[in-house]
Amino acid sequence: MMAHTFPAATGFLVSAQQGGGRAPRPVFATRGPHETVAEALRSQTLNAVLVHSGSAGDAVARSGDTALVLAGELYNREELLPLLPSGADARTDAALVLGLLGVYDLHAFRLLNGRFAAAAALDGRVLLATDHAGSVPLYTLPAPGRVLAATEIKALVPATAQAPLSGRPVADARRIRRVPGVHQVPAGTVLDLDVRTGTAAPSRTWTPPVSRRILSEADATAAVRETLGRAVRARTGSTAPLVVLSGGIDSSGVAALAAAHTDGPLETLSMGTDASDEFTEARVVATHLGSTHREITVPTADLLGQLPYAIWASESVDPDIIEYLLPLTALYRALDGPARRILTGYGADIPLAGMHREDRLPQLDTAVAFDMATFDGLNEMTPVLSGIQGHWSTHPYWDRDVLDLLVSLEAGLKRRHGRDKWVLREAMSPLLPHETVTRPKLGVHEGSGTTSSFSLLLIDAGVPEADVHRAKSLVVREIFDRVVVEGLSPAEVSTADTVHQVAARLKETE
Ligand code: AMP
Ligand code: MG
Repeated sequence: MMAHTFPAATGFLVSAQQGGGRAPRPVFATRGPHETVAEALRSQTLNAVLVHSGSAGDAVARSGDTALVLAGELYNREELLPLLPSGADARTDAALVLGLLGVYDLHAFRLLNGRFAAAAALDGRVLLATDHAGSVPLYTLPAPGRVLAATEIKALVPATAQAPLSGRPVADARRIRRVPGVHQVPAGTVLDLDVRTGTAAPSRTWTPPVSRRILSEADATAAVRETLGRAVRARTGSTAPLVVLSGGIDSSGVAALAAAHTDGPLETLSMGTDASDEFTEARVVATHLGSTHREITVPTADLLGQLPYAIWASESVDPDIIEYLLPLTALYRALDGPARRILTGYGADIPLAGMHREDRLPQLDTAVAFDMATFDGLNEMTPVLSGIQGHWSTHPYWDRDVLDLLVSLEAGLKRRHGRDKWVLREAMSPLLPHETVTRPKLGVHEGSGTTSSFSLLLIDAGVPEADVHRAKSLVVREIFDRVVVEGLSPAEVSTADTVHQVAARLKETE
């Protein structure tokens, strides 16, 4: 089960309408050539603009009166193939999903383990689907007679000006700040839209497990090693991937498993700033695995200056999430050259409650339950972050099988023998140096000094310490309004100016 070097498409805008029509000309932060596609069906036309990687046709599938567009990729093709009628076309992920739609209708999306957003037109319906984690964000602007959907909010903004407030409400879906009518398709959901009326019926295709499994230490660690190994293998293309490596247990575990599955040396990359780095710890792992290792140092002023890029790419307004994503944005932007398939250790802390530094089991499981109930809409896992530089990133810890397993392990396997994330550390101990296995958690926002540098920038501008978090939130919203809602280029928006405006505004309202 090997992923291709690159997904056929990494983003799309689709417009499904009764009768003919054309898709608007969208803007995307995701870099790549655009291809326009039109499929005339019996009762509607599906127009799409794809951001692709050279084989846009592979992201579109058509059979009879059904057409489907897919951005991203599947990780359980082998499991899915026997479900198709014999002779069905399954050469591409889009064709495979289309075939499954013919057998299962929208329940096909319950079968998929992948990182994707999909739109299908059939009869008078449009199906809009996210993967279990909503890891490729998907937004919709449904109106009577015409349903629009896109993988980036900014691609839909021009259409809201043509038909303000005509968008239909979508049950259970998050509205987008200052973009009327646009909703985010929830994680693990397929929306079944009636094109004539623009109404949407949601069906959940995945929910985080709420029960907990009781396993022996040996069985739990074997299950984690095996399941994570499969997730890494499914994400490793025909050429050696690049692993973004901090030297923490999460990314080091991914690197160790990727090294075991690739011929030739693995490539690893670490970023640091002039304020802080984890270079020593990452080098220990790179040396142990024999990877071809690189380090990138980003000056702190440059890092903070890239805040508009992180917000433009992630379209998130959560200041904490933006602090995690900013150092990675800087890392990806510094990664010139050909488009790469990138594996990360992102997200392991959510099912294992690593970031909470909590050793009491009830509190630990409360944190897991809370974080799994509230991740949706934060866009932490978005591929657009690396997509702005033309790269494709994927996160093995948020593979559907890995996530199901990690979430469901009873809390005593997560915190054990005085260790956080015990089951993962133990599972990886045969593959990594002892000092890596026992290394305490350090978040990317801490290891790069991002949180403290951003705080300092606000304090230097006159924001009282008690108001720093609120000020960060205001800065992020201001920048979101410029680069997402108003469509400015992130190059035209200044972090420093925005910080000074927010600081001045806070002073006035004191
Ligand atoms: P963390 O917040 O430490 O869990 O970071 C999430 C993921 O981002 C890690 O698993 C790595 O894949 C990546 N990452 C974090 N810090 C760095 C770094 N300094 N250099 C390269 N990649 C990093
Ligand atoms: Mg870390």
